[in-house]
Amino acid sequence: MLELVFLGTSASAPSIQRGLPSQVLLYQDERFLVDCGEGTQRQILRSGLGFRRMNRMLLTHGHLDHILGLGGLISTFARWEAVDKFEIYGGQRSLDRVHDLLFGVVLRGARPPVAIELIDAKPGILLDSDEFEVRVFGVRHRGAGSVGYRFSEKSRRPFLPEQANALGVPAGPVRRDLVNGKSVTLPDGRIIRPDEVLGPDRPGLAIAITGDTGQVENLVEAVQGVDVLVTEATYLSRDREMARRFGHITADEAGWLAREAGVRMLVLTHLSQRYRIRDILAEVEAYFEPVVAARDFDRFTVTREKITLTNQQLQVDTELSPEVWGDGEFPHTLGDDG
Ligand SMILES: [Zn+2]
Ligand SMILES: [Zn+2]
Repeated sequence: MLELVFLGTSASAPSIQRGLPSQVLLYQDERFLVDCGEGTQRQILRSGLGFRRMNRMLLTHGHLDHILGLGGLISTFARWEAVDKFEIYGGQRSLDRVHDLLFGVVLRGARPPVAIELIDAKPGILLDSDEFEVRVFGVRHRGAGSVGYRFSEKSRRPFLPEQANALGVPAGPVRRDLVNGKSVTLPDGRIIRPDEVLGPDRPGLAIAITGDTGQVENLVEAVQGVDVLVTEATYLSRDREMARRFGHITADEAGWLAREAGVRMLVLTHLSQRYRIRDILAEVEAYFEPVVAARDFDRFTVTREKITLTNQQLQVDTELSPEVWGDGEFPHTLGDDG
């Protein structure tokens, strides 16, 4: 299971309903804060996620609407001494600006109360464990050094207990070895190979976040087949020229990307107040469904069977729990709040 909570969904300036860009990816005990717009620390409090383990930050790029919240968040954390270090990942250009913000403004020469590590996120594997990986991909936006992130469970072959029982494989460490791909020798001398007790490879779940982007053709491969693609839709196609000037895409291009990449669901963020949400969705739907315009505090829970959307903050009367595996029905948004 992968979860994604939106803390801020506005483009460049906040609105009454939308904070500046930030979201949290949750996988088992892992948490990744992706971007940290101004006001993110209060959004974390309101979201109910709490600050525990919220010390790994991945930045898509260094524009102010995506990084200014780091100053406040880190100064609060530092006072509490609740964590022993911060890891901030991003392209080198983003890190340079974050360095100025944290060391020039927040700390002003004082020794950081907790270690702050700025880590260059180059395209490729960023974090890797037996079950999970985070991959970085290049993104073209205004200025250089923008990146996106793909969070993926590793594919694995499920253990088939009926097969194992039929072969007389005893419970315990022998089965663990088989799951880990090792052949085992049973007490009666028979050799059991992993192939005999493992099913076909099942791909893991994946979520990709592109951040702000001015192009989609170059992203198709990086986000191919993800369960949830999070991208921007800052402009409508009638304002394509302006979108190009500021290095953003238009809603129809977001839909094109989702379709070309064969994703399971498209979630839009970085939404501008200049448009109605329903107009943005209409442009996307000419290319791809299901699509959702994220609201602050929307929580997407992604399993193989379904993708569930809940939002306690908006005091929605009924919990939304649409199943999209099959009929493709999904409520876009509760109201026209953009
Ligand atoms: Zn932005
Ligand atoms: Zn930007």
